[in-house]
Amino acid sequence: MNGPDWHAAAAALRPDGRLLIDGRRRDAADGRCFDKHSPIDGRRLGAVARGAAADVDAAVASARATFAARHWAGQAPAQRKRVLQRFADAVLAAQDELALLESLDMGKPVRWARAVDVAATARCLAWYGEAIDKVYGEIAPTADSALALVTREPVGVVGAIVPWNYPMIMAAWKLGPALAAGNSVVLKPSEKSPYTALRLAEIAVEAGLPPGVLNVVPGYGGEAGEALALHGDVDAIGFTGSTRTGRRMLAYAAQSNLKRVYNELGGKSAFLVFDDFRDLGRAARTAAASMFFNQGESCNAPSRVLVHERIADDFVAAVAAELPAYRPGDPLDPATELGAIVDGVQLETVLGYIERGRTEGARLVGGGARARVDSGGCYVEPTVFDGVAPAMAIAREEIFGPVMSVLRFRDEAEAVALANDSPYGLQAAVWSDDLSRAHRVARALRAGTVHVNQYDEDDITVPFGGYKQSGNGRDKSLHAFDKVTELKTTWIHI
Ligand code: NAD
Repeated sequence: MNGPDWHAAAAALRPDGRLLIDGRRRDAADGRCFDKHSPIDGRRLGAVARGAAADVDAAVASARATFAARHWAGQAPAQRKRVLQRFADAVLAAQDELALLESLDMGKPVRWARAVDVAATARCLAWYGEAIDKVYGEIAPTADSALALVTREPVGVVGAIVPWNYPMIMAAWKLGPALAAGNSVVLKPSEKSPYTALRLAEIAVEAGLPPGVLNVVPGYGGEAGEALALHGDVDAIGFTGSTRTGRRMLAYAAQSNLKRVYNELGGKSAFLVFDDFRDLGRAARTAAASMFFNQGESCNAPSRVLVHERIADDFVAAVAAELPAYRPGDPLDPATELGAIVDGVQLETVLGYIERGRTEGARLVGGGARARVDSGGCYVEPTVFDGVAPAMAIAREEIFGPVMSVLRFRDEAEAVALANDSPYGLQAAVWSDDLSRAHRVARALRAGTVHVNQYDEDDITVPFGGYKQSGNGRDKSLHAFDKVTELKTTWIHI
């Protein structure tokens, strides 16, 4: 099913960019707004409230009041579960609207927004709801004279600051565990993609989440974001975004109330292909699909492809043969695989890296230019560079666009050394038909997730996060509860 006539639906859409505090929409306290345009065609989508310190204060006060009154935290886990399941069902019921908003806001193909982003958001909310009444406390082994209970309590008010590349999923990864555990939340979406977070919060209230438990303050990082991260009455910040901003989160916590910070940051994931791997075509197809999905705007995109020198020419030819399948196109066309880059600033960043790749001497295999699409807007051709040297900017820095860098290695030791020679450590892949080598290399790679002979498996059941400067937390899985709960020990004399 392709869904509705997306262009007609887009023309009729009037997104509401006002804040959501205490369960109600309202304008920013000082009345300021900013215009939001779609990267698809430059069309103005509407005015979005420009949240600032006064709005963050109001949102945090609302979150604190609901938390203190135990409107949500005091409900039985089974009741919170029912609300989260209704929330998830309502997200699915609104899938066309949410997918369209996401696509218009940040440029991803609407087909993928519905099949991946909406589906993963609903599954995440339902999964944490389903999990929460199965999280037990502990009784510690102690002497006969005492009983020591170890229980989990919500941290209180969680501030969630999220990026624009997967606006709904990144919000859901913070909301799922935080809400299930009984916290109240203030969510700050990216100024580049504010609409779905606001709509999600509205849906949550309709599904029975008490007003004030989830508040959304859109606005700029240096205004609403900074005010939230510095706020003295916020107990934890769950941040997903660039390593540069993640560094600031730690500084804000140090400057304010030492709030807990869990950071999910950038990546430059290495994809290692050994010459003993027989199905080179599958490795090349997977590398292209994973690299160009979401226009390359994925923290875990395999943007450093390391290939054994003996098979590198064949591998590069196989990747080049994939490029026509990723011709940039209108994101509202259900046939489009590669949509629009989020905005003109990011477009220039990506084109700048392509230019640096050329001037630093890498060999352009395909792409390499801005793409022209009938609707206008911000588009880049899927781009592959071969002959990339480890010191080049396109081998070291996160580009966050559809640009793949291919480096060559001579042996296993060099492959591992190259892969680990990065400040990032989010994900990696090993392609090898030698079982011992696959395990040996997977163990040696400094990354939070290592894929063997695949790259596309993903599930809410497993942790997601990075080593080194890719972050200090883990989203997803039961481990995410560690970030949004406190452990309390209660000693009882008996
Ligand atoms: P960003 O750091 O520019 O912004 C992220 C969020 O932080 C936005 O909401 C922004 O408004 C806010 N922000 C910016 N400056 C701030 C400040 N001084 N104080 C408080 N808040 C501030 O990142 P981005 O460009 O939106 O997102 C892309 C980055 O996110 C990439 O580096 C990508 O790898 C990373 N990312 C990581 C993961 C992960 O799970 N590890 C997932 C998705 C994206």
